[in-house]
Amino acid sequence: MGENKRAIIVGIPGVGKTTVITRAAEILSNRGYKTSVVVFGTVMFEEAKKQGLKDRDEMRKMSVEDQRRLQDTAARRIAEMKDPVVLIDTHLFINTREGYYPGLPVRLLEIMRPTNFVMIAADPGEIINRRRTDSTRQRDVASPEEIQHELEISKVMVASCSILTGSPFVIVMNREGKIDEAASNIAKALTGGDDGERKKNE
Ligand code: ATP
Ligand code: MG
Repeated sequence: MGENKRAIIVGIPGVGKTTVITRAAEILSNRGYKTSVVVFGTVMFEEAKKQGLKDRDEMRKMSVEDQRRLQDTAARRIAEMKDPVVLIDTHLFINTREGYYPGLPVRLLEIMRPTNFVMIAADPGEIINRRRTDSTRQRDVASPEEIQHELEISKVMVASCSILTGSPFVIVMNREGKIDEAASNIAKALTGGDDGERKKNE
């Protein structure tokens, strides 16, 4: 793996991003790639707190202009991170009355210059279950059809990000009980299949 990797990892709420990313970072670190994980929304909130905000949900009530400025600042902070691997946990879109709002407009892609995209997918029924059984979070209740639709929108959007940046994307399935499998598929995509064995054998 020559250059540093800045991978943007996306997926709809409850698909298992944070869980799988955490595991992928452990795998990569064990293989000697210093890896850091950053949640885009958390970096935004840290910046908002500097401006006096107390509650994460207050961010959504800010003016569009102020929210944009926060996004830009967060993206610049992430762009400055120098670790060999940076995994960026974020959402591709938010569902609004006006339509799907991109979480990664081209302006932010230009600031962050991601080297890879990973979309995490899962069976709609499993996503619904994960949303329902995760008591640590409040997530929207949706039908399997709605989840399927959101997964399709996600594919279109991640492909668009890939075209705009020239960086490749993979779609990784996060199957029930198979967190390790999903995490090692992410690691594989970022290290070009180097599973650590080659180094040992040479
Ligand atoms: P959000 O976008 O809302 O932050 P997320 O994509 O980060 O959601 P997680 O918080 O990682 O989702 O996972 C949601 C729930 O699903 C958690 O309770 C987690 O333990 C569970 N989960 C994740 N992956 C799997 C899996 N492969 N098998 C079983 N349960 C899983
Ligand atoms: Mg998460």
